[in-house]
Amino acid sequence: MRDTYNIAVDFDGTIVEDAYPRIGKPIIFAFETLKKLQEKGHRLILWTYRKGSSLEEAVEFCKQNGLVFYAVNRSFPEEEFDSSYSRKIHADIFIDDRNIGGLKSWGEIYQQLIGGQPLGEKTKSKKGWFSFLK
Ligand SMILES: [Mg+2]
Repeated sequence: MRDTYNIAVDFDGTIVEDAYPRIGKPIIFAFETLKKLQEKGHRLILWTYRKGSSLEEAVEFCKQNGLVFYAVNRSFPEEEFDSSYSRKIHADIFIDDRNIGGLKSWGEIYQQLIGGQPLGEKTKSKKGWFSFLK
């Protein structure tokens, strides 16, 4: 099993709430999880219906939230559209609200791809059972 993946991520309804063509509010833990995935060496591809100025706005919004993609609507940064090649991008994993079964919570995505303590889970109190007796 490889250590790093190409991960294609949708924008509307996945990173932000769907308000297309406007930009919705970030979905909880989306940016945190995506940045952590990059830290772990995964390549993130923004894979969205958006194009032109609405695409630029989405890319800029992500940048303002600290997220710069490896590639946008293509398999690698230099890829040129060429109809003699398949349009399907090369990704190992797709994260999209149109997945069958819907979008998992970003907390679950984090757990599944990164592991460790789930985001948002409070650290357990170090106080033991007896502490309330004191
Ligand atoms: Mg979507």
